[in-house]
Amino acid sequence: MQPILTVGSVAFDSVKTPFGDVSQMVGGSATYFSVAASFFTNVRIVAVVGDDFAEEQMEIFSGRRIDLTGLQHVPGETFRWKGEYSLDLNTRDTLYTHLNVFEQFHPILPESYRPTPFVFLANIHPALQGEVLDQVTEPRFVAADTMNYWIDGTPDELRKVLKRVDALIINDEEVRGLSGESNLVKGARAIQEMGPRILIIKRGESGVLMTRDAGFFAVPAMPLEAVLDPTGAGDTFAGGFMGYLALANEMTDTVVTRAIIAGSALASFAVEDFGLSRLVRLTTEELHERFTEFKRLTHFDAL
Ligand code: AMP
Repeated sequence: MQPILTVGSVAFDSVKTPFGDVSQMVGGSATYFSVAASFFTNVRIVAVVGDDFAEEQMEIFSGRRIDLTGLQHVPGETFRWKGEYSLDLNTRDTLYTHLNVFEQFHPILPESYRPTPFVFLANIHPALQGEVLDQVTEPRFVAADTMNYWIDGTPDELRKVLKRVDALIINDEEVRGLSGESNLVKGARAIQEMGPRILIIKRGESGVLMTRDAGFFAVPAMPLEAVLDPTGAGDTFAGGFMGYLALANEMTDTVVTRAIIAGSALASFAVEDFGLSRLVRLTTEELHERFTEFKRLTHFDAL
């Protein structure tokens, strides 16, 4: 079992879906990622919060295998984000993004973090993702997320980071934006040329498509009766995926495909309630059971 280092946002999220409207919940990409990955291994967070992020909010991390030495507390307000979803939950408008303390943020890795072998660069400015990699002494497996904002706004910095990334985890629209190809298969090949040998394409309720040397691997999303809030599903998926790899500490094809199922299983819980509420009450037994349900969902006997 190996530890994972992650850099990303710790936030106050407000979310409106057809099923409710919740304000100022603890969220952020690094939060979803680390809570998810901590089901499998130790996670080291690099992020920043303001002085409005009190003991009460820190509770979300407590009792889990999450090292907060690299979580900077600075004067000012914590990052805030609000999103509103369409009726079918497939599209989302960002109503506001207040960077606040993130505006001046530069990741500083505590000495104890520097030898971490598994690294997840959540969706932040690619220059900051690069700054993290500069401080890690022996990265063995690096995964990253990004979004159209950086693909369009900071393409050169992003290209530099992609050269240092083993796995890129993005959605289908971002694949099209980054590659300039409307066809996903061609787009995936073009992105692999940029550096990442593994590309994981998140397709919302259609599940996940992975390309790697051995070809494609696809998993549907778990059919669920209640989906209340898709926020953070992608970061939760990434947490399960990286957590499983770091636990297994190998990257064979079998392990990587199982890691895709682990990520999909965790993400399927994340969407069942608002914010992190379902994940924080999730048990390992429930997670194990859903992993097995995925096997039933996808298994068939070939002739
Ligand atoms: P996802 O649903 O996977 O896009 O992730 C949503 C999470 O990302 C929320 O918890 C937000 O706080 C966080 N988030 C949204 N926009 C940004 C941004 N520009 N930088 C960092 N984190 C963000």
